[in-house]
Amino acid sequence: MEIIRNIKEMQCFSDKNRADGKKISFVPTMGNLHEGHISLVRLAKRLGDIVVVSIFVNPTQFGPNEDYRSYPRTFEADKNKLANENVDVIFYPEASEMYENPKTFVYVEDYSNILCGKSRPTHFRGVTTVVAKLFNIVKPDIAVFGEKDAQQAFIIKKMVKDLNFDIKIETGKIIRESNGLALSSRNGYLTEGEHNRASYIYKSLLKAKETIENGERDGNKIKEAIRKILNENNVGKIDYIEIVDDDTFTPINKIQGNIRILIAIYVGKARLIDNMRVEI
Ligand code: AMP
Repeated sequence: MEIIRNIKEMQCFSDKNRADGKKISFVPTMGNLHEGHISLVRLAKRLGDIVVVSIFVNPTQFGPNEDYRSYPRTFEADKNKLANENVDVIFYPEASEMYENPKTFVYVEDYSNILCGKSRPTHFRGVTTVVAKLFNIVKPDIAVFGEKDAQQAFIIKKMVKDLNFDIKIETGKIIRESNGLALSSRNGYLTEGEHNRASYIYKSLLKAKETIENGERDGNKIKEAIRKILNENNVGKIDYIEIVDDDTFTPINKIQGNIRILIAIYVGKARLIDNMRVEI
């Protein structure tokens, strides 16, 4: 496994492998890897010949009062996990290598200022900008993202379509703990009690899915039922509960077609997100 810290070197590696006819699949991460990330690495491995994983805590996707400084950085442990998965390259640049007084940004309109974009107004601009840069650096054929960040995955697909990146975007399903809580690097911020209560996020999503499958079509009633479960179990301060059409990512009130229910909630020091797709 190679560790590449330099942009030119990464580009040369990819040019050479592409010239040799190798398919490069790419998993962008911020490190502090858990089974959710590893599931994406395994998917990438199945889809391509060469797997590149980036580890970069991207400063431009954090707001001024967010956890950029305290975000867990665990490179040694991450490196061992990726070596065990037979990853070919870790791209691990310094922030100064990635950003040199940048004046160019990528912004996907309409989808970057809803849901998570409301409370994190600069977040998706940071994500799309760094992912576009990483695509130009890693030059993958395939890139793999987690359904855990469903809005992010939708926005990346839109960016790829709008800007004609010649890259296939694949998504991997959400990996959860045994109590249902979606794995996240930010779960490490939770106390034991918060951690237990946070399992009600998934339980509320399951309940909502069941309600829809039993015939409920009023989105407001479903959102209200989720709110009730979260509040009754003191999970935390709800940021949003939303239902979107999963093909267009537009918020809807009347349930029809494939939909996705999304939740963002502040639990202790963490802001947690989760979602569930429901097909009817
Ligand atoms: P992050 O390191 O948080 O930027 O995440 C890197 C990638 O891993 C993103 O595409 C996330 O959607 C994905 N990811 C994070 N948590 C999970 C999870 N629990 N299950 C599946 N994928 C995940």
